[in-house]
Amino acid sequence: MKKIFFMIIIFTSLTFSQEITFSGKAEPGHIIFAKGEKITSAILINVDKPKSKSNLLIDKNGNFIFGFDGDAKGEFILKVKQKGQKEKIYKYNLEEQEHEKQELSLPKKFVNPPKKYSKKIALETLAMKKARAKMLKIKTAYYTSGFQNPVDSVRVSSEFGVKRILNGKPKSEHNGLDFRGVEGDSVYAIADGIVRLAAKNFYFNGTFILLDHGQGLGSVYLHLSKLHVKNGELVKKGQLIGEIGSTGRATGPHLHLGLQWFNKRINPRSVLDLPAN
Ligand SMILES: [Zn+2]
Repeated sequence: MKKIFFMIIIFTSLTFSQEITFSGKAEPGHIIFAKGEKITSAILINVDKPKSKSNLLIDKNGNFIFGFDGDAKGEFILKVKQKGQKEKIYKYNLEEQEHEKQELSLPKKFVNPPKKYSKKIALETLAMKKARAKMLKIKTAYYTSGFQNPVDSVRVSSEFGVKRILNGKPKSEHNGLDFRGVEGDSVYAIADGIVRLAAKNFYFNGTFILLDHGQGLGSVYLHLSKLHVKNGELVKKGQLIGEIGSTGRATGPHLHLGLQWFNKRINPRSVLDLPAN
């Protein structure tokens, strides 16, 4: 009897402490959710840029995440160390993604802002930087709440990664998803998180919210008409946080939802359940 008991203990401790589970795709613009026991470190290395290795944040339950920018390509290596175990190495090969093109006409002041707004824009950029800086060391995995759509009726009007041609000139890629809507439509938090910035009338973003979902993952909700949250507030997945509007650089009422893992641009489609484009 004693012998059997001993063997069971060994068996269970081996199976539980070794396994690391992953969900998500290793593709540009995607995020991967991982979990394992007794993890002491997890490092992501971009083989083409070995200096840019990231030490991943891990919560007390062994949850961690990592993501690939919309423009990422080439080989990435994940090294995970667990207490008393040999280091595990995972390799990901990313193929460059093709981006569609979209021509847009915007009022001139949004493509080349007039000089009188330079100071306002600089201050706003600084406020964003400061808010994002607060997110860098948050180990809590608020995102384990899971995700839901930010609006009730989903109509995507512009996809993530689309190459934008503004007033005939090629500009940067669209770094979020646009949802069509009517002014006053409810906007919900896509996951649990802390409000890092809820601000009014920024030049480009308009009235907007930055939510911190932990471990470097943040979502932004731009061009709102109304805010329902304050800085520092903890919000729950599905909580009403604002209302659709057309403030800032917007041609009509819509929600721009952006998702970032540190400075990597993530396609919100990778975490939401949306109809195909
Ligand atoms: Zn947008």
